[in-house]
Amino acid sequence: MTSLGWRPHHEQIGQTGSRISPELYIPCGISGAIQHWAGCSSSKTILTINTDENAPMVTKATYVVIGDMAEVVPAINAEIRRRRG
Ligand SMILES: Cc1cc2nc3c(=O)[nH]c(=O)nc-3n(C[C@H](O)[C@H](O)[C@H](O)COP(=O)(O)OP(=O)(O)OC[C@H]3O[C@@H](n4cnc5c(N)ncnc54)[C@H](O)[C@@H]3O)c2cc1C
Repeated sequence: MTSLGWRPHHEQIGQTGSRISPELYIPCGISGAIQHWAGCSSSKTILTINTDENAPMVTKATYVVIGDMAEVVPAINAEIRRRRG
Protein backbone atom coordinates (compact mmCIF):
# COMPACT_ATOMS: atom_id res chain seq x y z
CA MET A 1 0.00 0.00 0.00
CA THR A 2 2.80 2.40 0.84
CA SER A 3 4.70 1.58 -2.38
CA LEU A 4 1.55 2.46 -4.35
CA GLY A 5 1.15 5.63 -2.35
CA TRP A 6 -2.16 4.55 -0.82
CA ARG A 7 -0.83 5.11 2.70
CA PRO A 8 2.12 7.18 3.96
CA HIS A 9 5.42 5.40 4.50
CA HIS A 10 5.36 5.94 8.27
CA GLU A 11 2.45 3.47 8.40
CA GLN A 12 4.53 0.68 6.84
CA ILE A 13 5.38 -2.12 9.20
CA GLY A 14 8.52 -4.13 8.62
CA GLN A 15 12.15 -4.12 7.71
CA THR A 16 11.96 -0.72 6.04
CA GLY A 17 9.11 0.57 8.19
CA SER A 18 8.12 0.62 11.85
CA ARG A 19 8.62 -2.18 14.36
CA ILE A 20 5.56 -2.73 16.50
CA SER A 21 4.76 -4.85 19.56
CA PRO A 22 1.07 -4.34 20.38
CA GLU A 23 -1.01 -6.55 22.66
CA LEU A 24 -3.07 -7.52 19.60
CA TYR A 25 -2.12 -7.21 15.93
CA ILE A 26 -4.75 -8.04 13.29
CA PRO A 27 -3.10 -8.37 9.87
CA CYS A 28 -5.83 -8.62 7.21
CA GLY A 29 -4.77 -9.81 3.77
CA ILE A 30 -1.11 -9.67 4.75
CA SER A 31 1.00 -12.54 3.46
CA GLY A 32 3.56 -12.33 6.23
CA ALA A 33 6.62 -11.91 4.03
CA ILE A 34 9.84 -11.94 6.03
CA GLN A 35 10.28 -8.20 5.46
CA HIS A 36 6.89 -7.58 7.10
CA TRP A 37 7.39 -10.19 9.84
CA ALA A 38 10.58 -8.35 10.87
CA GLY A 39 8.38 -5.48 12.04
CA CYS A 40 5.55 -7.31 13.79
CA SER A 41 7.01 -10.53 15.19
CA SER A 42 7.10 -9.18 18.74
CA SER A 43 3.34 -8.58 18.82
CA LYS A 44 1.89 -10.33 21.88
CA THR A 45 -1.06 -11.88 20.04
CA ILE A 46 -1.66 -12.06 16.29
CA LEU A 47 -5.08 -12.68 14.77
CA THR A 48 -4.73 -12.95 11.01
CA ILE A 49 -7.41 -13.01 8.33
CA ASN A 50 -6.36 -14.51 5.00
CA THR A 51 -7.86 -16.50 2.16
CA ASP A 52 -4.69 -18.58 1.83
CA GLU A 53 -4.22 -21.19 4.53
CA ASN A 54 -0.58 -21.56 3.49
CA ALA A 55 0.36 -17.88 3.79
CA PRO A 56 3.39 -17.39 6.07
CA MET A 57 1.39 -15.16 8.44
CA VAL A 58 -1.20 -17.93 8.82
CA THR A 59 1.47 -20.39 9.89
CA LYS A 60 2.90 -17.95 12.47
CA ALA A 61 -0.19 -16.25 13.93
CA THR A 62 -1.73 -17.05 17.30
CA TYR A 63 -5.25 -17.15 15.83
CA VAL A 64 -6.34 -17.54 12.22
CA VAL A 65 -9.52 -16.91 10.27
CA ILE A 66 -9.44 -18.35 6.75
CA GLY A 67 -11.75 -16.15 4.72
CA ASP A 68 -12.25 -13.00 2.70
CA MET A 69 -11.40 -9.97 4.82
CA ALA A 70 -14.16 -8.05 3.04
CA GLU A 71 -16.60 -10.40 4.76
CA VAL A 72 -14.76 -11.26 7.97
CA VAL A 73 -13.84 -7.72 9.09
CA PRO A 74 -17.41 -6.36 8.83
CA ALA A 75 -18.65 -9.44 10.69
CA ILE A 76 -16.15 -8.82 13.53
CA ASN A 77 -17.12 -5.14 13.65
CA ALA A 78 -20.81 -6.02 13.77
CA GLU A 79 -20.25 -8.49 16.62
CA ILE A 80 -18.19 -5.97 18.63
CA ARG A 81 -20.93 -3.35 18.20
CA ARG A 82 -23.61 -5.89 19.17
CA ARG A 83 -21.74 -6.82 22.37
CA ARG A 84 -21.23 -3.18 23.27
CA GLY A 85 -24.97 -2.74 22.99
C1 LIG B 1 14.25 -4.61 0.55
C2 LIG B 1 12.78 -4.87 0.82
C3 LIG B 1 12.22 -4.32 1.96
C4 LIG B 1 10.86 -4.52 2.22
N1 LIG B 1 10.32 -3.96 3.34
C5 LIG B 1 9.02 -4.23 3.65
C6 LIG B 1 8.45 -3.72 4.86
O1 LIG B 1 9.06 -3.00 5.64
N2 LIG B 1 7.16 -4.04 5.11
C7 LIG B 1 6.39 -4.82 4.27
O2 LIG B 1 5.22 -5.08 4.60
N3 LIG B 1 6.91 -5.30 3.13
C8 LIG B 1 8.20 -5.02 2.80
N4 LIG B 1 8.72 -5.51 1.63
C9 LIG B 1 7.81 -6.20 0.69
C10 LIG B 1 7.61 -7.66 1.06
O3 LIG B 1 8.63 -8.45 0.49
C11 LIG B 1 6.27 -8.17 0.48
O4 LIG B 1 6.25 -7.97 -0.91
C12 LIG B 1 5.07 -7.45 1.09
O5 LIG B 1 5.16 -7.50 2.50
C13 LIG B 1 3.80 -8.14 0.61
O6 LIG B 1 2.70 -7.41 1.09
P1 LIG B 1 1.31 -8.11 1.31
O7 LIG B 1 1.46 -9.34 2.13
O8 LIG B 1 0.43 -7.02 1.81
O9 LIG B 1 0.86 -8.43 -0.19
P2 LIG B 1 0.81 -9.80 -1.01
O10 LIG B 1 2.13 -10.45 -1.09
O11 LIG B 1 0.12 -9.40 -2.29
O12 LIG B 1 -0.13 -10.74 -0.17
C14 LIG B 1 -1.50 -10.52 -0.03
C15 LIG B 1 -2.03 -11.54 0.98
O13 LIG B 1 -3.40 -11.27 1.20
C16 LIG B 1 -4.18 -12.43 1.00
N5 LIG B 1 -5.44 -11.95 0.48
C17 LIG B 1 -5.70 -11.43 -0.76
N6 LIG B 1 -6.98 -11.04 -0.85
C18 LIG B 1 -7.56 -11.33 0.35
C19 LIG B 1 -8.86 -11.14 0.89
N7 LIG B 1 -9.85 -10.59 0.16
N8 LIG B 1 -9.11 -11.53 2.16
C20 LIG B 1 -8.13 -12.08 2.91
N9 LIG B 1 -6.87 -12.29 2.46
C21 LIG B 1 -6.58 -11.90 1.19
C22 LIG B 1 -3.39 -13.31 0.07
O14 LIG B 1 -3.71 -14.68 0.27
C23 LIG B 1 -1.95 -12.99 0.49
O15 LIG B 1 -1.51 -13.81 1.56
C24 LIG B 1 10.06 -5.30 1.34
C25 LIG B 1 10.68 -5.88 0.21
C26 LIG B 1 12.00 -5.66 -0.04
C27 LIG B 1 12.62 -6.29 -1.28
